Parts: sequence; structure tokens; C-alpha cells
Amino acid sequence: MNEILKYPDPYLKTKATIIDDVNKPSIKYEINYMVKIMEEIDGGLGLSSIQVGLENSIILYREGGNPKDNLKVLINAKISSVLDTNLQRSEEGCFSLPDIFIPLRRYKKIEVIGLDEYGINVRIIAKDMLSNVLQHEIDHLNGILMIDRLSKLQKNLFKRRLKGMKFKDKAV
Ligand SMILES: [Zn+2]
Repeated sequence: MNEILKYPDPYLKTKATIIDDVNKPSIKYEINYMVKIMEEIDGGLGLSSIQVGLENSIILYREGGNPKDNLKVLINAKISSVLDTNLQRSEEGCFSLPDIFIPLRRYKKIEVIGLDEYGINVRIIAKDMLSNVLQHEIDHLNGILMIDRLSKLQKNLFKRRLKGMKFKDKAV
């Protein structure tokens, strides 16, 4: 898990670059690199290229939003439509903000488009947990962390906790 960038690494604010040629060997390499990292992590629901210091727009996610589901690749992912604007709350975790869970509300149902690892167009109708996971990962591609989604008051509270953690890390 050392390969994953942690808050407050400034690279996490990077916006991902759209990939024009999925079949380039360098893209295959980056996908494999990310898959390897995900396979080493127990219980990860998603991972974005930005989190591992890569710039090209790649996310990995678990098909049904459950830790045991198949791992899928999505390139140039974006939300094409919000199908249910009602919000659903979940306790979100993030590999870039270890040991912190934040209650966030996100759209119940969205449509996401992108390409698979072979360059084939993919359209995903995501609801329940998968909807939140994909919104979380697409946020990463836009340089947004889950703490950026909090109100100012909540954010200050979590920032204090994060600072505390950082101090602890330095102390040991
Ligand atoms: Zn994350």
C-alpha cells in the first residue's frame, strides 16, 4: 500500500488526462500496475490512477460495489447523467486518507461512460454502493478528495483529526 499517495500529497489535486489510445503499451502497463496494487489490498472497492501518481485517466472498481466482486477497468470515466438526484449516505473510506471514515451523501443512481481496457465503449448504470464508489473515484480523477465534499465546519473537524494523525506518523 506504500505506492498509494496519502493526503496531503499535492499530487492528489491533479486532474487526470484523457487517454486517446488505450492500446498503447504504456497504458497496458499502467493498468497492470494498478491491478497489482488493488490485488494486494484487502477489501478495496476502487482505485484511481491519480492516487498512485499516474496521470492518465484510469479507475478500477468492483463490479457490484462489493469487496468480493470482479475487478473492472474504466478509462476516461465520466458521469454522463444523474438518473436519481436523491442522495444516499454511506461511510466512505479512502486509501489516500487511511483510517478515516466520512459520512457522505451522493447521488443514488448515475450513468457513467468510458472505455474498457480494450478500448470498447462502456456504459454503466450504477446504483446503491456502486454509485457512491464511482462518484468517489471520478472525483479523484478531477483532483477532488472526499474531505473536499464536506461542509466547512465538518472539514475543519476532520482536518484537525488528520493533522493529529500526521503528527503521530512523524513521532514514530
Ligand atoms: Zn479515494
